[in-house]
This record gives sequence, C-alpha cells and structure tokens, in this order.
Amino acid sequence: MINKEVVTKVKHWSTRTFSFTTTRNYPNKFNNGEFTMIGLEDEGKSIMRAYSIASANHEDFLEFLSIKLDKGPLTSKLRNIKIGDEVLIQSKSTGTLVIDYLKPGRNLYLLSTGTGLAPFMSIIKDPLTYERFEKVVLTHTVPDPTQLAYLEELTLFNNRWNIITNNKFNYFSTLTRAPWDNIGRITQWIKEDRLYKAIQFEPISSELDRFMVCGSLNFNRELIEYFKNLELSEGNTSVQGEYLVEKAFVEK
Ligand SMILES: Cc1cc2nc3c(=O)[nH]c(=O)nc-3n(C[C@H](O)[C@H](O)[C@H](O)COP(=O)(O)OP(=O)(O)OC[C@H]3O[C@@H](n4cnc5c(N)ncnc54)[C@H](O)[C@@H]3O)c2cc1C
Repeated sequence: MINKEVVTKVKHWSTRTFSFTTTRNYPNKFNNGEFTMIGLEDEGKSIMRAYSIASANHEDFLEFLSIKLDKGPLTSKLRNIKIGDEVLIQSKSTGTLVIDYLKPGRNLYLLSTGTGLAPFMSIIKDPLTYERFEKVVLTHTVPDPTQLAYLEELTLFNNRWNIITNNKFNYFSTLTRAPWDNIGRITQWIKEDRLYKAIQFEPISSELDRFMVCGSLNFNRELIEYFKNLELSEGNTSVQGEYLVEKAFVEK
C-alpha cells in the first residue's frame, strides 16, 4: 500500500545531498536497515524510487537521505520539497542490511559511501546493535567535506545516544578528493590494516568480525572480493552470513 505522509523537516547538506523527515501515521513496520519505495505525484503519475529508511523503527517519524540529480526524474523534483508537502511512501519495506541476517560476532563494521550512509543511520540507533556486538564502527567515504551528511550528529553520537550505545559507537569519515584528517578510500584503509589501528579496534578477524556494506557498485564489488578472499560468506534474508551487502543505487 502506498501512503501519503507530510514533510516535517528538510535539511540541505550540500548541492548534492539533503535529508527530510515525514509524519509516520500509517503503520510503517520495518526492520532497521531496510529500504522502501518513496516518491511524488507528478502530472497524475507517481514517480517511485527505492530509498533506505534513515530513521530507526522506534522513532515516531520517517527520515530519508537523498541525492540531488539535476536530470533525475524523482530527485530533480524531490529536492524542492518543503515542510507541509506530501510524499508517497510504500508501507512495505525490505532489504538485506538487517542485523538478524549476520552471524553473531565481536566487532561490527558498517561501511558506506555517499547516500549508502542512510541504512546505517537507522542501524546505529537500534539497541540490538550494541547488545550483539562489542564495538561498532560506521565509516563514511565521500569526495569532499560538504557531502559528509550528519557529520556533527555522528561525531557527537555517543553523547546523545549513550543510553543505547553505551559508548560502543565509533565514527570514521574519509575523503577522496579534499584535505581531511583521513584521506582515501576506506577499502585501502582496510586492506592496508590502517582502519582498525586508527579506531583502536582489535586486528580484523575473519572469524570474529562482521561487516555490512552499502555504496556504489565498484565499492561493493571491491569489498565483496576482499571478503571472498577471506573466505567469508554473504548473508541474505534467509541465511545468516559474516557480511551483508546492499546497493546504494543502481547504475544505469
Ligand atoms: C536498494 C536501494 C536503496 C536506495 N536508497 C537510496 C537512498 O537512501 N537515498 C538516495 O538518494 N538514493 C537511494 N537509492 C537510489 C534511488 O532509488 C534513486 O535512484 C535516486 O533517488 C535517484 O532517483 P532519480 O529518479 O532522480 O534518478 P534515477 O533515474 O533513479 O537515477 C539516475 C542515475 O543517477 C545515479 N544515482 C541514482 N541514485 C544515486 C545516489 N543515491 N547516489 C549517487 N548516484 C545515484 C545512477 O547512476 C542512476 O542510474 C537507492 C536505490 C536502491 C536500489
């Protein structure tokens, strides 16, 4: 079923991304990390696209992080939404980035590029995440600092959400095209054994640690190859694995 929800907040992070919240009047039941279809009505037709839900399922609103594409059929319009506007949201959600689809483990790595951050914004607010794992790191890689959506919230996350995180949360951002404390692709940080040292985790262990990945096709492919070389198995909605992968978008 497709419902109409009302926009309650809009935040433009940069010329490339923005986020917004809506009412949650209908019973949008979802697992943290899942995606649904959202869209707008345009000249009597609805334009719907897959979107990860960035809010947690215990919150009384829905939140989304969106790209802005000048020629994108949906986002060229969605980027102009204002408080009070209506957005179409499908009540059913799905997806593989759900903590239940991971085997139990020690440390949890949530690895994202661009709007691939969105599903992890939901997962890091889930108390189960911190019950199941000793430490959690969320990495976000983008070209330049304007695209680090939620930077301040993520930097101060343990302060605001400590009742849930119990100080187990870590945030690690890297930039690929601008100066920053951490430069370069996170795949290199992982492969060169620099990430776990920088965040003061134990050395990555294929037996103990678990991974979720959400980013561009190349990013996902590179990490899948890395995990396969470590002989890790990919989980899905019916089989638990040591890692899970979701596309942040489909490249046409
Ligand atoms: C499982 C899944 C979850 C998704 N979750 C999100 C989300 O949380 N936020 C979000 O903004 N988009 C998300 N997308 C992408 C989304 O469905 C749309 O493609 C996007 O909103 C652009 O829609 P459009 O109609 O403007 O352009 P489209 O015609 O859909 O896209 C045009 C082209 O732009 C590029 N593109 C599309 N989306 C992105 C993006 N997010 N980042 C970089 N390049 C992109 C691709 O090359 C694509 O072929 C998701 C896609 C999938 C498959």
